[in-house]
Amino acid sequence: MICVPVTGKSVPEVREQMAAAAKVADLVELRMDYMPGLALRALLENRPCPVIVTNRPLREGGAFAGAEADRVALLNEAVTLHAEYVDIEADSIVRIKRGPGTKFIVSHHDFERLPDNLEEIHSRIADSGADIVKIACMVRDIRENLRIFSLLRNSARPTILIGMGELGLVSRILGRKFGNVLTFGSLAHGKESAPGQITAQELRELYRYKKIGPGTDIYGVIANPVSHSMSPAIHNAAFEAAGIDAVYVPFKVEGDPVDFVRAYHTIGVRGYSVTLPHKERIIAAMDETDNLVKRIGALNTVVNRHGKLCGTNTDVSGAIGALEELGPLRGKKALLIGAGGAARAVAYGLIDRGAQVIIANRTLERGAKLAAEIGCEFCPLAEADSIRADVLINTTSVGMKPHTDEMPVRANALRAGMIVFDAVYNPPETRLLREAAALGCRTISGVEWFVRQAAAQFELWTGTPAPRAVMERVVYGKLV
Ligand code: NAP
Repeated sequence: MICVPVTGKSVPEVREQMAAAAKVADLVELRMDYMPGLALRALLENRPCPVIVTNRPLREGGAFAGAEADRVALLNEAVTLHAEYVDIEADSIVRIKRGPGTKFIVSHHDFERLPDNLEEIHSRIADSGADIVKIACMVRDIRENLRIFSLLRNSARPTILIGMGELGLVSRILGRKFGNVLTFGSLAHGKESAPGQITAQELRELYRYKKIGPGTDIYGVIANPVSHSMSPAIHNAAFEAAGIDAVYVPFKVEGDPVDFVRAYHTIGVRGYSVTLPHKERIIAAMDETDNLVKRIGALNTVVNRHGKLCGTNTDVSGAIGALEELGPLRGKKALLIGAGGAARAVAYGLIDRGAQVIIANRTLERGAKLAAEIGCEFCPLAEADSIRADVLINTTSVGMKPHTDEMPVRANALRAGMIVFDAVYNPPETRLLREAAALGCRTISGVEWFVRQAAAQFELWTGTPAPRAVMERVVYGKLV
């Protein structure tokens, strides 16, 4: 179930929010502690969906600052009015009278940490007479979510376990696979009732929360930062379109990705996308890597093949595939702007296809180093426009939003008939591509590369053709 917490200044305002929440959620939580003076009876009359009535005291991170007797009285009133659920702090259950039709959610909160004695707290609450145990704790290491999943899996009593904070996000989504009774989602951004909460709409539409079950396969992207990533939107839409029971989540990995991957192996994650800054270090966690990864020294894809973690790199096939749509690369002179990770992947792909590669980079040593390693020419970026290339590829971030007026090379590096490929995908049409098209060049957007590398991941993970058009639509939808 998805529950939307609701607060407001007047009965009509709260009722309006309850009606909006009922469209995206199964339950509404009335946070009475944030609404002193509002009549509970008026809020509950002809309610649009079942409710949880909560009146959380300051000591548990809530806003109720009045007398304890008044706080408890309101919860007792909720029972009398047949609210479907009341949320009671573990230390006050004995003061709430049972009534027909009302279930007790007995809760514990820790806004600092996930306590060492989490399991003990859970059993204590379960033994206290709770119908549902609820524990919400701050997660400070993404691996702590595994304790939450393990407790959920082993709990005999219906349980709500929430990891708060950005690092607890995956518990809010994946908890359902392990038996979480409900998760909280806000009505809109800015209306969160706890740190790390996402919207009910994101839970439903982006993560397809209601479809997650014990058999749902887990995938995700390992990155830091990760909140900007478009990969969850693309891959979840692709799973939906292909009718595959899987969910794809963002894993914000702040520490060593090797430790992360080893820890999450225990829940059988089926595949990862890997991006900055973990593409190189994560190789140490693989059981197998293909030749491409060995040569490039970086991977962007992990496939769990029957328990074995296999690393590969679809950045290369994605970029080269996009270029080959416009003809073979053998014998073509390719001017590659940049010498970072993206350049490295493209350079290896071009060399393998028999293209003649020239690397141009702002920092001479870095460019010369990559050129020497690959066995190709190098030229300083300032001289790039003197080269008459068949293909020009920008792998720098120049031209990316918000610096959309910038170009990685001067326009006189471009000429009619040339293929111009920009790794930058935001905006989909950069100034470089616009000027190139105006001069009669054939252009390829970074979106094409992005979608192709993601589609290749999807196919490696699932063994089924990727719904490329759906994935492309999601990317364009996110970029406008
Ligand atoms: P990176 O390793 O940090 O390398 C950045 C490169 O850009 C370096 O060569 C750097 O030159 C150069 N650069 C940065 N700012 C510059 C400037 N103002 N003028 C000239 N050169 C500049 O980054 P990366 O991982 O290779 O990624 C580069 C870009 O490719 C990013 O925008 C990324 O989003 C994009 N990308 C897109 C896709 C896709 O699917 N479309 C895939 C991978 C990457 P110095 O050596 O002089 O610092």
